[in-house]
Amino acid sequence: MRMSKLFIQTLREFPSDAEVISHKLLVRAGYIRKLANGVYNYLPLMWRVIKKIENIVREEMDSAGAQELLMPFVQPSELWQESGRWDVYGKELMRLKDRHNREMCLGPTHEEVITSIAREGIRSYKQLPVNLYQIQSKFRDEIRPRFGLLRGREFIMKDAYSFDVDEQGLDKSYSVMADAYKKIFERCGLETKMVQSDSGAIGGSVSHEFMVLVNEDSENNAGENDVFYCPNCDYSANSNHAVSLLNQTETDGKFTSQEIVDTPNTHSIEELSEYLNIPSSVICKCLIYVIDGKYVAALIRGDRNVEETKLMNAFSGNDIRIASSGEIEEIMQASGFNAQIGFIGPKGLKNVEIIADETVKDLKNFVIGVNQTDKHLVGANWGIDIDLPSKITDIRLVEENDKCVNCNSALKVTKGIEVGNIFKLGTKYSKAMNATFTDKDGQEKPFIMGCYGIGITRTAAAAVERHHDEWGIKWPLSIAPFTVIVVPVSDQDELQMTSAENIYKKLLDNNVEVLIDDRPERAGVKLKDADLIGIPYRITVGKTITDNLVEFKDRQTGKTDIISPDEAVNRILMLKN
Ligand code: ATP
Ligand code: MG
Repeated sequence: MRMSKLFIQTLREFPSDAEVISHKLLVRAGYIRKLANGVYNYLPLMWRVIKKIENIVREEMDSAGAQELLMPFVQPSELWQESGRWDVYGKELMRLKDRHNREMCLGPTHEEVITSIAREGIRSYKQLPVNLYQIQSKFRDEIRPRFGLLRGREFIMKDAYSFDVDEQGLDKSYSVMADAYKKIFERCGLETKMVQSDSGAIGGSVSHEFMVLVNEDSENNAGENDVFYCPNCDYSANSNHAVSLLNQTETDGKFTSQEIVDTPNTHSIEELSEYLNIPSSVICKCLIYVIDGKYVAALIRGDRNVEETKLMNAFSGNDIRIASSGEIEEIMQASGFNAQIGFIGPKGLKNVEIIADETVKDLKNFVIGVNQTDKHLVGANWGIDIDLPSKITDIRLVEENDKCVNCNSALKVTKGIEVGNIFKLGTKYSKAMNATFTDKDGQEKPFIMGCYGIGITRTAAAAVERHHDEWGIKWPLSIAPFTVIVVPVSDQDELQMTSAENIYKKLLDNNVEVLIDDRPERAGVKLKDADLIGIPYRITVGKTITDNLVEFKDRQTGKTDIISPDEAVNRILMLKN
């Protein structure tokens, strides 16, 4: 490909709306262009990268025994009604009506459609197991589309679905996919960590995410997930699922008697603990949330924080947020109180469900709000003035240096980009949608399902997050849009131009994906562009060509060698074998 013909426009500056480096670089280097919020054009260079990732995914999925198909992007609402998700999926689901007023949606995922395919196409256990996958654009009306391809509204996903006769079958399908995923990301030049993750409110299900770890102190925060891991054993989990041993800390308030005391202007735990001169760990915090429109009061020890996904799952919820001050006022009024935020307590709240984190169980002589502004109850004990809620579970956010539940070592935390996930669905969809097969014993049974996603476009962006420097992208060879770029330093120099053309031709003849920068540009511009777009190897043909020498540069390592044109060509040909 000739740079003079390539459809590309590199920009001098980073786009102003980009926060993370992959977004900045992909726009500036001419890979993507925004069409609407969270919706991007994949320009020719980007499309080459995407096709490479897709092919790696295809090869590994096929060799793991999965079969590719393609389902429609637009789906009828009926299937979503059958699964029960039409009403609970929320605003991410882009709903529309056709000319006959029938409700449809843009596919954010395809569990419903694939389950309907299996329901019609698989009659007998003899046809199982089967794993079907597709690579396709998805649409999710994300609340916060951001970070370019990392969180778009339209994005490309590989989604696979397995059908098995029983749990053991699912275990096998699941581990085959886990192995395939490791290979896929490795081949894409990405080191990933497979971590335990939240699998929603479905009891007993298992899921894992594949995380590309990114440095927390890097210039951006592209890693949207906190990953806790144990440096000593193999425990690792997304913060929405992570657990830890409870730290040993002071939980006895040592207040000799129970009384309501003045605590003026103590709206926060810090202010309260300072005012009373006590550790925050002897305060019982009471936070009001709204889960699927219902009020919930969550109690947790003052020194710890609530993990909202855990809390939501405790109520099998789909949506959670902290209550607004207006809503807290409303609760106060309904309960006959008049307290401000900071003084709320569980006792006497009307129309509010109460849940306690495990941390509050062992509190003694503690401090808690009693719905009176500027006052707290000190020396409180469960069962005496305030009852311990009957719903007690782990809703605590793990923190760095908490102890590992497996080996008691101090946990560490890092940031991760989720590039893929695998999920044991069990019978969630097959039961709801009545998708069954006839088993060996003649009985009708629901399929045991798994689902497996990879964000193709997110993987490309994650590769840029991991592989770049101040000059631009450093694509891993396997997913680079081109393998090598040939750059004649001066387009006025005939020897340089003919030598560069020769090298180009030799590489082309050997089916190498090669670019030649034949534009009438200054050398500096050409070399900068080559670094910016991130082609793994560069062959620069300059003055030394009179001695039959060119410069061979490795973009990953920055290493340059001065070698003959033939050797440069050979080095590239060696890569292919
Ligand atoms: P996230 O927690 O990041 O929103 P998810 O749990 O919604 O992801 P899945 O529904 O399981 O993700 O989708 C499978 C894969 O698709 C994810 O692992 C991710 O790589 C990719 N993906 C999901 N949402 C987006 C998005 N908005 N933009 C780009 N890729 C996405
Ligand atoms: Mg999501």
